[in-house]
Amino acid sequence: MQETFLDRFEVWTEMGMKEGQTPPAPTSEEGLSILADAPLDRVLDLAERARKHFFGNRVRAHILNNIKNGNCPEDCGYCAQRRTAEGIPQYTLKPAEEILEEARAAKKNGAYRYCLVTAGRGPSRRQIESFSKVIRQIKDELGLEVCLSAGILTDPESAKMLQEAGLDRYNHNLNTSEEHYGDICQSHTYGDRVGTLENLHGHGVHLCSGVIAGMGETDRDLVQVASELRRLNVVSIPVNFFLPVPGHAIENPRTFSEEQCLRILALFRLFNPSAEVRIAAGREYYLKTRQGDALKVANSLFISGYLNVKGSNAAETAQMIADAGFEMELSEGEAHGSMVASESNPDAFALKDISDLRPFARS
Ligand code: SF4
Repeated sequence: MQETFLDRFEVWTEMGMKEGQTPPAPTSEEGLSILADAPLDRVLDLAERARKHFFGNRVRAHILNNIKNGNCPEDCGYCAQRRTAEGIPQYTLKPAEEILEEARAAKKNGAYRYCLVTAGRGPSRRQIESFSKVIRQIKDELGLEVCLSAGILTDPESAKMLQEAGLDRYNHNLNTSEEHYGDICQSHTYGDRVGTLENLHGHGVHLCSGVIAGMGETDRDLVQVASELRRLNVVSIPVNFFLPVPGHAIENPRTFSEEQCLRILALFRLFNPSAEVRIAAGREYYLKTRQGDALKVANSLFISGYLNVKGSNAAETAQMIADAGFEMELSEGEAHGSMVASESNPDAFALKDISDLRPFARS
């Protein structure tokens, strides 16, 4: 019988997945099989082996902060902030002190990394200067890892400034395949997205880039994204499952069973075995009681929502992580361990629901 990608991957895991040993490269057809008919137990077992090898038993919690919300001139069909969407609070860039205060609260609530997100096509030079200042402050005072998501950024000088400020990661999701991109957005191109990632990577900033599954794409589109993220050396992959926000413009949105979600997460893990794979939007809605199983494949998640959509709060998420037998990985200087509030540790989560920090969040 012909050797499959899963066979080659299994051999690679048995060889110890050592640094310098390139993981086996899957073909598109082999990727499609992971999503469709490869035995689920085997797919999950192999994904779990890689997850364990690179991330042990730890789960990284990320907290998003929309530092500039709504009124975006772009027209991404999936986004509540696009120019034609209505009903969300809109505000310009938050003052640095407010961002810093929220970073302090995020650290207190168990965040490993702090993600600053702005609406808009891309940042001006003035905004790059403001971001650089606040990134330096967060790093110096809190030691949190910082990720910035600020849109298209193809100017080399701006990339250099952010790298020098200590930015750990830049997020810019591919979201879907090149072929399907024109169906979800017409105001910028897939090429703009790839150009941004290549610019930041070229200046030594690690890349965070992921997918939104469920926007009318085919399985082949999902496989192409997984493959492209591998080519671009992306170290962090948020896997979103599309939530139909009010006013969205996605034609033929897909829905997924829990099993399909697990297969999609496994696809991104197996194509990118050492990347931080994150269960992002749709975690609660689609995975339901299988969130713990998903953590055997993914090693990271968001606490308390996804920009303009609420998610489970910090305490609920921490409880789910603990119940599934994992432990939260905290930011630099903090011990690993459960962050579930208890009599002996009543302040584990000072805020009952960290989305209190984001009064614009909507359900
Ligand atoms: S995804 Fe970003 S660029 Fe696109 S509409 Fe939303 S805020 Fe604007």
